[in-house]
Parts: sequence; C-alpha cells; structure tokens
Amino acid sequence: MDITKVQTMDCLHFINGQFVPSESGRIFQNINPATEEVLGTVAEGGNQEVNYAVAAAQRALSGSWSKKTLQERSHILRRIGDLILARKDELALLESLDTGKPLSQAKAVDIERAAYNFHFYADYMIGLANEAYQQDEVAFHYTHRRPVGVVGIIKPWNLPLLLLSWKLAPCLAMGNTAVIKPSEWTPMTATVLMEICKEAGVPNGVVNLVHGFGTDSVGEAISKHPNVNAISFIGERKTGSAIMKSAADSLKKLSFELGGKNPNIIFADADLDEVIETTIQSSFINQGEVCLCGSRIYVERPIFDQFLAKFVTATNKLKVGDPIQKETDIGALISKEHYENVNNYLEIALKDGGRILTGGKRPENLEKGYYLEPTIITGLERTSKCVREEIFGPVVMVTPFDMEEEVIMQANDTHYGLSATIWTKDVKRSHRVAQSIQAGVIWVNTWFLRDLRTPFGGMKQSGIGRAGGKHSLDFFSEVSNITVKL
Ligand code: NAD
Repeated sequence: MDITKVQTMDCLHFINGQFVPSESGRIFQNINPATEEVLGTVAEGGNQEVNYAVAAAQRALSGSWSKKTLQERSHILRRIGDLILARKDELALLESLDTGKPLSQAKAVDIERAAYNFHFYADYMIGLANEAYQQDEVAFHYTHRRPVGVVGIIKPWNLPLLLLSWKLAPCLAMGNTAVIKPSEWTPMTATVLMEICKEAGVPNGVVNLVHGFGTDSVGEAISKHPNVNAISFIGERKTGSAIMKSAADSLKKLSFELGGKNPNIIFADADLDEVIETTIQSSFINQGEVCLCGSRIYVERPIFDQFLAKFVTATNKLKVGDPIQKETDIGALISKEHYENVNNYLEIALKDGGRILTGGKRPENLEKGYYLEPTIITGLERTSKCVREEIFGPVVMVTPFDMEEEVIMQANDTHYGLSATIWTKDVKRSHRVAQSIQAGVIWVNTWFLRDLRTPFGGMKQSGIGRAGGKHSLDFFSEVSNITVKL
C-alpha cells in the first residue's frame, strides 16, 4: 500500500446517503498527533446539519429500512463487516494517523474488532427470541420488539472505529436509524465507514454522520433534538452529565459508557511473570488511552519490591515513537491539550510526594508529536488527584497493601466503577474479592478478554446500562407486551 496516498483526507458530513459540506462552509483542521502536521480538513457542522440528518433518519425509519426483513438486515451487517476487512490496511492506517496509536495495534485490534462487531450482530440478531407465557386457559402473553427510532451515537477518540461499530451494529440490527457524531479529534474512519455502509446496501438516510464539536455544537444539538429518541454515548463522565441535561426535556432513552480509574489487584500468590506481561498491556496499551486500563495497581506487600523491579524493567523495554513503525509499542497522545493535561498530573504527583520510578518525560529523540514515556509512580496517598481522577495516559500508580479487606476498600474508594483485575491462585479468594469490587467488568488472572455475548458496562459514575449480546439489543429496541385473552 502507498502510505502517502492516504496521508491527507478531507472529511465531509454524510447525510441522506450523500457526502456534503456544511451550509456555512465552515471547516476545521485535523492534526496528526504524531507529527503535529495537518492531515486534512473536516466540515464543521451545527444545528442545520443535525436537523437535516435527523429528518433523513426519520424518513428512512418509516421508509425503506422498515421494509427490510430480518434476514436482509443481517445480510447487510455481514457485508459491512466483510467490507471493513477488505479495507483493513487503509482503515488501520487512517486510525493510526488520526489517533497516534501504533499501526500494528490498529490492525490487530481496532479494525478486526470493528468488523467482528458487525459479523457478531449479523448472527446474533437472527437468534434473538421474544418472551412468551401461557397463563393457564386465561391468556397468552408475548413480547414484540420494534426499533427505538432515531438514535444519536456520540463517540470518543480513543478507539474510534471499534467503538462506533460496537454501537452502530446493534443499532442497525434492531431496525433503528442513526445520526452519528464522531470525535472532532478522529473523524476519518467514521467517514470511510459511511462509504462502506452505502456499498453494503444500507439505504439512504439510515446512517448519517455530522462532524463537529460537542458543547454548543453538533453533540449538544443531537442530544437536545426532539426527534432523536435515544442517545448512545461513550466518553467522559462530565460529558455524560451534560448530555443527560440536554436530553432531559425530551426524556430520551440513554446508554452511557464512561470513564474509569480501574484497580489492578495483585496478590502475592499470583504468577508474577504472567502478571507483568499482562500488566504492561493493561497499563500502557494504546498509550494508556483505554477506558479499561488498570491505572491503580495494588500489590501485596511481600512481592511489592520484586513486582516493581520487574515491572520497571519491562516498561523500560517498551519502544515509544512513530506509530507507523512495526517495532513501536507506544505512540503519541491524542492532542496537545490532552498531552498538557497528562503532564499536569505528573506535576501534581510530585507535589503530592509521589516518586516517578520511570518515565514522566518526553522521549529524548522525539521533538515533535505528543509523546510521553510510560510512567510508573509510587508513594501517593489515596487522596491525591492522581489516584482519584482518570488521567487517560501512559501513567500508573503502584501502591502496596497488607490485607484483603484493605485493598477492597481502596479499590472501591472512587466514584468510578468500570473494571477491575484480580491476580491470585486462590480460587475462593478470587470469587470473594471479585464479588466485593464495585465494577461492571471484573477479570481474574487476565485482562481485556471479552466475549461479545456477555454484559459490558460500568456502575457508579462509569456508566448507565449494559452493552453486549442481548443487552445491546434491549437498549436498541422497544418491547411491547401483547396479551391475548383465550
Ligand atoms: P469526551 O466526553 O470529551 O467526548 C466524547 C464525545 O462527546 C465527543 O464526540 C465530543 O465532541 C462529544 N461532546 C463533548 N461535549 C458534549 C456535549 N456537551 N454534548 C454532547 N456531546 C458532547 O470524551 P473523549 O475525551 O472523547 O474520550 C475519553 C473518555 O471516554 C474517557 O473518559 C474514557 O474513559 C471514556 N471512554 C469510555 C469507554 C467505555 O466503554 N466505558 C470507552 C472509551 C472511552
């Protein structure tokens, strides 16, 4: 593939099956975080574009899309997955250029998984059963599903295509239409996905995409729009709160997948080599910009020093640099603003008495781009902002513990409740601790292992609702109960 051919891309809105600029003609620049160079321009939408997109989605809902059979919709979903795989190299490159993530990770994880999300729901939707109850000789009750309607899908920048497909696939499976807003930082793969949807046979108006910003812009316009029936949002908890307020007047159905400050709990009996190998991933994959990253590491005191020595050594072997190069493990952070924000937390850590064991600075050979060495900090109290707030970068805190009850209390001492990892060979303890941790997704002796049939989501301020398997299809459908007197 000729990389230079896809190094610039201008992104337009996709409304009613056509790529269109903004009526105002406004555009903004899309910056490559690894080079700080301009990747292309992006149409900047506003109320007008959202109105057009919602109107198109409403027409398609009662028109061509509603006339497709379950089998036809499933076939289209499968075709979208196939076309994603057919354009895998191109999509992976665009994702890497847009986000700063290593190309190898985009290829192996993001694009594969994006295709699988469509393939999975193409099959899963066919097997979805409704409920039916016979009430003696009195009545027969059964449930009937229909689409929720027009769904606003608002996305973050960290796993752009993977997370968009994670919501769009079940949304389309249940016969809804969508108005999508990708993150302003990562507009490219969502734009290509619109082309793919069209080629796969998605009728005009079923998927619409409006580029732009959040507050006072496209995100808010979608959240407020009276004809948008539901919002599927992935992003920061404060944005979730703003969307909830905007959506309140029209009482929209909401699904939120929000941030996390996830504990990674390591007991002394764990297999330390396995722990280190996985903890390197759970700490620094995607520059630590994954909601599931385990940024609070708690290690039982007898192995604390040994863990730190091995963990620092393994971390120092990670190669930070040009995301396109095969050997790169850690690319660039998404933006200047985010880079400064993460660095600000490092200053806070030092002021709060923390000790940076490795990292904490820009790699010496990289002058341009938002690069930060993977960073391990110890010596922080639970009250430090670095322990309490989501940093969303390659930065982890490591803390020793003595008692099981103590580590459970520390792990739960947060307003987040997304995920947790527990490392131990003691089966009873693994269940006991797992059932005591307040998180929606809990792994024992592993991390990031997913089966798309299982429920996924956060408790406390990490989310509302669950996705995955039937859980997603429940969100994207309205269920009526029909009772027939016998
Ligand atoms: P963000 O909340 O800043 O932005 C997400 C989207 O919301 C963007 O498209 C943005 O333009 C839009 N937006 C911003 N303000 C808005 C408003 N007032 N109304 C409507 N839309 C608005 O999040 P981000 O920085 O893009 O992503 C990082 C966050 O996402 C982290 O907190 C991370 O943990 C979270 N995340 C969670 C999951 C999960 O599965 N729980 C997955 C990925 C990312």
